[in-house]
Formats: sequence, C-alpha cells, structure tokens
Amino acid sequence: MKTITLQRVQYLPKQLSSDILYVSEEYAVAGHLCACGCGSKVITPLNPAGWNFTERDGRPTLRPSIGNWQLPCRSHYLITNGVIQWAGQWSDEQIAAGRRAEEMRRQAYYASRTPEQSGFWSWLWQGVRQLFGGK
Ligand SMILES: [Zn+2]
Repeated sequence: MKTITLQRVQYLPKQLSSDILYVSEEYAVAGHLCACGCGSKVITPLNPAGWNFTERDGRPTLRPSIGNWQLPCRSHYLITNGVIQWAGQWSDEQIAAGRRAEEMRRQAYYASRTPEQSGFWSWLWQGVRQLFGGK
C-alpha cells in the first residue's frame, strides 16, 4: 500500500519530496510528485474548478482523482486518507472526456464568478447579503 503524507506549507517548495502532499491553504494549491515514481511535479489548484482537499487525523484526501494524462506515465489515482488508490490508466477516449469535463467545470466556475451573472448564484449572493443586513 502506497501512502502519502500531508505537509502544510505557505509556499510550495521548489524541490518536492516523493510521498508528500504539500498543501498551501493560503494560496489554495497543493503539489506532490507523481505517485508512480516518475518524478513529475503534479500541481493541483484547490478551488471549485480544481480539486477539493480535506484531511482527517493529518491524512489528506483529494477529489476528484489525479489524472496525469499530460505526463508520459499517464498515471491515474485517488488520494484518500493518505493512501494512493490506483485508478487505472486513461484511454484516449477517457482523456478526451476528462479534458471536456474539466473544461466545463472551469467554465461553470468562472461564469459563476462574473458579477453580472444572474440566476442561482446572484440569488444566493442576495440571500447572503440580506443575512448580514446589507441591501
Ligand atoms: Zn508518473
């Protein structure tokens, strides 16, 4: 069983050590070396368009899976409670689908941040402002 240790940092170090997940909550980013051992740096932004980081008893969980289809190794795994769970290599079709899904998440995320955007998000924002007594 391959494990990965959580290390909280302010900045991601230039040289990462293997089997360590560096997390900077200040800059909303995590970084680690590809779990397959190829030595490639994997940087995962922590935001709704990227990854969701949680920890339990110091053991990190990242969602969704890490799909390194841009690397030669094409490794694909989940980090769950500090354990690397292999998810099988990506096929070309899965890579294409994964890219599309990522692009759609990104677009949805940035669209939700546009101030003139109406609909659910502005409704939610109005609600939050009223909650705090604003107009
Ligand atoms: Zn790799």
